[in-house]
Amino acid sequence: MKFVYLDNSATTELAPSVRKSMINAMDVYGNPSSLHSSGVRAKKIIENARSSVSKLINCNPSEIFFTSGGTEGNNSIINSIYQIAKENSEKRELIVSSIEHPSILSAAKNAEKNGVKVSYIAVDSECRLDINAFKKALNVNTALVSVMLANNEIGTIQDIKMISELAHEAGALMHSDIVQAVGKIEVNVDALGLDYATLSAHKIYGPKGVGAIFFKKGSPFQPLLVGGHQESSKRAGTYNTIGIVGFGEAAKLAINTPQIFAKDIMPIRDELAKKITDQIQNIKINSVPDFSLPNVLNVSFAGAEGESILLALDYHGIQVSTGSACASGSGKPSHVLMAMKADPEIAHGSIRFSFGLENTSDDVDYLMKCLPDIIENLRQISTVGYGGRDE
Ligand code: PLP
Repeated sequence: MKFVYLDNSATTELAPSVRKSMINAMDVYGNPSSLHSSGVRAKKIIENARSSVSKLINCNPSEIFFTSGGTEGNNSIINSIYQIAKENSEKRELIVSSIEHPSILSAAKNAEKNGVKVSYIAVDSECRLDINAFKKALNVNTALVSVMLANNEIGTIQDIKMISELAHEAGALMHSDIVQAVGKIEVNVDALGLDYATLSAHKIYGPKGVGAIFFKKGSPFQPLLVGGHQESSKRAGTYNTIGIVGFGEAAKLAINTPQIFAKDIMPIRDELAKKITDQIQNIKINSVPDFSLPNVLNVSFAGAEGESILLALDYHGIQVSTGSACASGSGKPSHVLMAMKADPEIAHGSIRFSFGLENTSDDVDYLMKCLPDIIENLRQISTVGYGGRDE
């Protein structure tokens, strides 16, 4: 049986050079905070990784600090609203889009419980931020705006440069979750006008459990983890040397991958969209190719359950994600599709195909050998509850 992995937005495999760099780093056991030569050696490979990550997004190495991943990064930035408020007591409002990753939305809910006014900005049926609603919500009390560069379920890319400009005009700071965008499209935090950004290594062929925050020099920051003086006291805890080295190597590779995604992967994604449209009735392509990541295609199959499609495809060796995660048992459809005002039946039958560098047209051919029959068979079965996804 052929194995086809089409779940690269959930996570990617380790690139061979990343694996090699991590194996080599296993011998560097000194604590990077130690002053002796073993510590200095470990510190050196961490600083090399920091330099590679900074080059990937065009910032200064001193503006990068390492975290345990995207979730920690997003929590830390939302948490920083308290520091912003400390520096200027008027600034106690937060604006986020309604399609953010749960690590932003849950942190925003917590902030609300602590007295922060949070505005959740709607998107249109193509998953683009409602700019008029955003402008209305912005005011002199807005401390922070957080809008993701690319959505993890649909792949939609937002006009972050314009959103940053509006945020700054109102005197607010701007954060963007760039976890899904880096390595797929070019990301330049300076050109985008960002004050903060969040990255995660495991979406770019690096290891899980490591990420980084871009933090523009001088921006207020409230550490989530306190204790030691690592990362200039912004993120306490002994360095994950092996993970950070793997992230650095992945970042080096990711500098060149946007061109490969545009040239080689986007046509395969578009070929799949065309074949699904031609061969299966009653479907809806939720991703809009003109402003989506080059590797993501989210499709709804009316009358079929996403999770059943996923399991049937897995039986044939094809791995995808549903537009929502039943496993959570929350019974809720995807918050992103709901924000796009999708019909609930459509939301329940959605699948995210996310391509990686290793995929080819043969993978699409194999998928299309299996998918039409699977959908036809499943359309006999009625839908059940779904939950929100978290990857
Ligand atoms: N933000 C986005 C857009 C994501 O897709 C993910 C991945 O699951 C995260 C944040 C969380 O990253 P991590 O898995 O490194 O905690």
